[in-house]
Amino acid sequence: MDGLNTVIIPGINSIEEYLNELEKSCDGFINKRASIRLAKESFSMLQELEEWGINFPKDEKGEYYQGRKGKYHVTMKSPNIKPLLASQVRSKKIQVLQHTMATNLLRHKETVIGCTALDNRLGDFIICRAKSTILAAGGCGRFSLPPSGYLFGTFDCPSNTGDAYSMAYHAGAELTGFEFIYGGYVRTKDYNSPIKDICVSHGGKVVNSLGNEVLPRNQTFLGQRVSEEDMRVDIRKGLDPLFIDIRKVSKENMKSIRELMFTTERGTLKTFFRGRGVDVRKDLIEIAQGDYHLCGGHGGTGIIINEETETTLKGLYAVGDSSWVTRQWLTGAFVFGAIAGKNAAQYASSIKEHEITSDSVEKEKARVFAPLYVHDGLKPAQLEYKLRRIINEYIISPKNKMKLKIALQWVQRFKKNDVQELKASDAHELGRVLEIQSILNCVEMAARASLERTESRWSFLHQRTDFPEKDDENWQKQIIIKKNMKTGKMALAIRRFT
Ligand SMILES: Cc1cc2nc3c(=O)[nH]c(=O)nc-3n(C[C@H](O)[C@H](O)[C@H](O)COP(=O)(O)OP(=O)(O)OC[C@H]3O[C@@H](n4cnc5c(N)ncnc54)[C@H](O)[C@@H]3O)c2cc1C
Repeated sequence: MDGLNTVIIPGINSIEEYLNELEKSCDGFINKRASIRLAKESFSMLQELEEWGINFPKDEKGEYYQGRKGKYHVTMKSPNIKPLLASQVRSKKIQVLQHTMATNLLRHKETVIGCTALDNRLGDFIICRAKSTILAAGGCGRFSLPPSGYLFGTFDCPSNTGDAYSMAYHAGAELTGFEFIYGGYVRTKDYNSPIKDICVSHGGKVVNSLGNEVLPRNQTFLGQRVSEEDMRVDIRKGLDPLFIDIRKVSKENMKSIRELMFTTERGTLKTFFRGRGVDVRKDLIEIAQGDYHLCGGHGGTGIIINEETETTLKGLYAVGDSSWVTRQWLTGAFVFGAIAGKNAAQYASSIKEHEITSDSVEKEKARVFAPLYVHDGLKPAQLEYKLRRIINEYIISPKNKMKLKIALQWVQRFKKNDVQELKASDAHELGRVLEIQSILNCVEMAARASLERTESRWSFLHQRTDFPEKDDENWQKQIIIKKNMKTGKMALAIRRFT
């Protein structure tokens, strides 16, 4: 987290230019009206964040450091960003329930009227009655198994397990982009953090196992020097492992790299290198392909929203990585968070509260606590490992019909057998079981959508070996996923890009 990836500074960049480039880079798969809103409000959001104490450094001319990682990127140096955001929450006297995970949404007909939650330390079951609800629980970061094999060693936030997607799905909202499976990019080996952009933009190089520099072949959307595809070409040729070489960068650049890499980007990277005996001044840094995940921030997955952050259900809003605004990144989380807050408050003030019926609450309570009554069952980590290994083998690119069908067979088997056998011995493990159920829902959505899209698109993010070409004539379309509330089955619909 070393900047806001999308800021359109008036007089420097134009909204039209941004939109054109975004559309090109996502092969048309964009939420146009929402992306325009994001672009329009991005700069005023940056200014508001500055007022909150978040640091966007400026050069001697008083200009923001812009374009380092791409045309619309503004550098941020705020290792304290989270405490600063938390102090804003405190100053507004917002009640926060710590260690509490939302488990499901509550509905009255087509309207969302709150949610249920679990305190995963105390084991309390909580009912939140709400006139309006905002889903902001990120994407599904624990999706494919990282090459390290460590369940939590993901690129994206490991506490995000697609709970927002799952809750929205079960409430009957529309979702999209589950075949747009983001990731596989080259990251710090075993640690999975971004590294290439920070280093290469400060004079570093990517080199292969022969010691040759990996050079850019084409210019990409964000204007990167050497792209992920360039590195993958060398990996496919067997020229891996690849390395980052920052041994000869200037002192000034090294200072900047350290400031970004060891603070805002990921504080524990320094400890990791120390543990591995890597001195970045003297040694090459090994990099390798990371894991894949689903999200609306870097990726193109999410709950369908309009530019007001309204979902297809009344009283339900979604923002940030939970929502579908392709490549909205951190800027999107801030801009749409603010929009949702205002709209949800306004909506709440205009309606009466609905009564919550006890049967839906009791049903959810039974689901949440069931694993406490399972004896001699499976430990959550055992099933999670199995499930995520299946994702690596059958769901991520290169995909094909046979693999995706096998994935769906596994989904059915896990749902029918293994999930019922999951055992929890405390509140924390109850949370783990719920997370696995969300991941499983996401796997099913990803497999069905990937099967439906009989073409290849978004480079290696959706690559079908049985349909290797991009098919604009038939597939300038998005796949919408929605639960059939009568049958309980997953339904897919196809809609033209708008
Ligand atoms: C390594 C990395 C580097 C990045 N760098 C940049 C960058 O430099 N610039 C940029 O613009 N973007 C960057 N991004 C993207 C950006 O961080 C995300 O787009 C942004 O954080 C999304 O915000 P969010 O609030 O939607 O989700 P998150 O920040 O992921 O927050 C979701 C929260 O929901 C919580 N949660 C999950 N499930 C539940 C549940 N059931 N109940 C309650 N809470 C739940 C999680 O614990 C988490 O705190 C980066 C992302 C990663 C992973």
